[in-house]
Formats: sequence, structure tokens, C-alpha cells
Amino acid sequence: MPPVSWGAGMLYITGSKAHSIRLREIAIERGLKLNEYGVWRGTECVARETEAEVYEALGLPYIPPPLRENSGEIERALQGSLPALVTREQIQGDLQTHSRWSDGQDTSEAMAQEALSQGYTYLALTDHVEMFAWQGDVFHLFRQRQREIERLNEQLAGRLVVLNGLEVNIDIDGTLDAPEELLKEAEIVVAGVHYGHGQEPEAMTRRLIRALEHPSVHILAHPTGRRFGKREPNDADWERVFRRAYELGKAVEVNGYTTRMDPPTPIARILEQSGAWVALGTDAHRASDLRMMTLAVGLAQRGWLTAERVLNTRPLPELRAWLKEVRG
Ligand SMILES: [Zn+2]
Repeated sequence: MPPVSWGAGMLYITGSKAHSIRLREIAIERGLKLNEYGVWRGTECVARETEAEVYEALGLPYIPPPLRENSGEIERALQGSLPALVTREQIQGDLQTHSRWSDGQDTSEAMAQEALSQGYTYLALTDHVEMFAWQGDVFHLFRQRQREIERLNEQLAGRLVVLNGLEVNIDIDGTLDAPEELLKEAEIVVAGVHYGHGQEPEAMTRRLIRALEHPSVHILAHPTGRRFGKREPNDADWERVFRRAYELGKAVEVNGYTTRMDPPTPIARILEQSGAWVALGTDAHRASDLRMMTLAVGLAQRGWLTAERVLNTRPLPELRAWLKEVRG
């Protein structure tokens, strides 16, 4: 690939194939030819150096890579109404993380330090409820962690605020595997399926909706439960699940943990269409995992999500108002 053809070459190599084919058709419609070396009018090259120039020569605005699937982006580009995708810089905090209080590798302080270097103003510590329970009295341990968080927040002096959160298991029937009083004490509650995968779609749909309807729950975590190399995504009527989240004013997580990346892109598109709030989380189990936010953002972009829809683009006071409002 000659360096002068970098833009055309990148477009060709990175695809997707369906997007490239559609671009070639557009070129032909305009009496041009597009290949990996450039856009051509006869033997004259009219664009090749950058992707933006190639799009411009085809009469299109620059289409960002996460949208290049020929799934409506070219029509939207032609109308001049491409979505302004959410960016990493807009993210103010991480909404799912774990510390040594459950199965995380690092202390709450180490997590907070890393959150600061990520440029965040808040961090939700959402340790697993059941892991508190394994270690002893769940209320006692939760309040011990709460005091630790309060001390930490004093030290941080407003540069970062750690939110006292929990992650709770969604049982087979959609009830939550934690005492109601405990969930009420947590400032932010994410609920997720961690066992009983592979249910019939109708049972899974009802299960997830019931969990969303629990008054203490804010966010449905890793909605499909997929794990690369381990577990296929659970099947459910995602339109119904996400519509219920929308009706309740609650959020669905886009999880950026490397082996999760949940929901998969087609389901992220359904989430986008539902109108529900979206929470980006890394599911970090060590401080360095907080860097996976770039993956969560990338997945949200593939779902066409904009900042308006993403809860953690909001500053802390707005987030806190939302957390309260959800519980009525
Ligand atoms: Zn989880």
C-alpha cells in the first residue's frame, strides 16, 4: 500500500465488507470508481490520502469506524443526520467496579486512585452482595465498607467521590438474592444474572423485567451474560426488557470488561432504539481494569449511543438526583 493511499487503504482493509461494497456502489452511481488505492475518475485519482477525503469525494460526511456496518449509517450520512457518538472524554465515572471487599484484587483506595488518573469525578464501588455474606454478617460488613468509603471520601476532598454501591444476583425467578433493607442502604444498585443462564427466552425476559421492577435497582448489569469462550449470550425479548427499563426510567449497562463486552452489538442497537438510560461500566476487578472504559465506550458507539443517553456523562449532582428519583 503506497503511503499516499493510506485513507483509501484503511477503508478497504478495515471494512466492514458490507460498508465497503455500499461505498463502491455510491462511487459508481457518481461516475467514479473506489478501490484500495483511491477514488478515481477515469485514470485520475480524486481522493486517497485520508478517509475523510475519500468520503468527501463520494459526497458523504466522514463516517466514524464504529458505524461502518451498512446498517443504516450511509443513509443517515446522506441525510446529514449521523449520531454524535458518545466519547471516552465525556465519561465522568465508572458505574460497576469491585474491590477486595468482594472478589476484587485491589483496595477501595487503590481503585479510587486509579479513578482519579482516569480523570473521573466519581466511582461506584459495587461489590457483590453474596461475597459479603460469605465473610460474615452482610449488614455489618457493608457498614464497615461504608465507613471506609466515608473516610476515603474525606481524604479525597471532593476531587473524586466514591459511591457506596452493590451488585446483586438476579435469582432464577427474577427476585434479588439480598435482603431488601441492605439494598435500600446502598446508594447505587446494579443487578445481574450470574447463574441459571440459558433459560427459555420468555422466562429470561420475565426474570430480567422483574429484577428491573425491584424498587432498589438502578441498573441491569451485563444484560445477556455472555462470556467469550465460555458462554453464549442469553436469549430474551430484548425489546420488551429495554422498553420496561425505559418506562421505569432505569438504566441498562454496556459492560466493557474484555471477556464480556455485553450486550453484543446487535442488541446494543436494540438498546439504543429503546430510549432507556445506558450505564457504562468496566466491571473492574482490579484498578488497572478501569482502563477498559475505552472498550465500553467503543461498544456503546457500535450501538449508535450518544452522550444524552449515557448516564455517566452526567456530573455527580445530576447522577445523584437520578439515583434518588429512580427510587421514587
Ligand atoms: Zn456481575
